[in-house]
Amino acid sequence: MENCIFCKIIRGEIPATKIHEDEDTLAFLDIHPVAPVHFLLIPKLHIATLGDVDVQHQQLLGKMLWLVPRLAASQGCTDGFRTIINTGRVGGQEVFHLHIHVIGGKDRLPAMIHHG
Ligand code: 5GP
Ligand code: ZN
Repeated sequence: MENCIFCKIIRGEIPATKIHEDEDTLAFLDIHPVAPVHFLLIPKLHIATLGDVDVQHQQLLGKMLWLVPRLAASQGCTDGFRTIINTGRVGGQEVFHLHIHVIGGKDRLPAMIHHG
């Protein structure tokens, strides 16, 4: 996808601090981390949102979820972490290339969504 920021990172047109790359996926540090560990895992295939995932993407998504705890451990998350996938407008998605946020650190993270 020509103008997609994450496709540009995949193509090397925008720099990013990569922590993992294979033929199907790329993981890199979030530019605005919300915790000591905050990286994004993306498929190299441009899929806009989780809502656009189809049956043929099952293996790719399974691989991504399999990778998450391994990459989290490689970043020092040995006692848990949080995964977030924002989807569409209501989900607050800003970059429309599917990505899994992996967030952690040494302290317990705050509650994800506050009541009120
Ligand atoms: P979303 O709200 O779509 O789930 O999250 C998009 C994430 O991408 C945000 O956490 C934002 O900080 C991150 N981000 C946006 N542009 C860039 C970029 O150019 N480089 C990196 N490394 N992260 C980015
Ligand atoms: Zn893309």
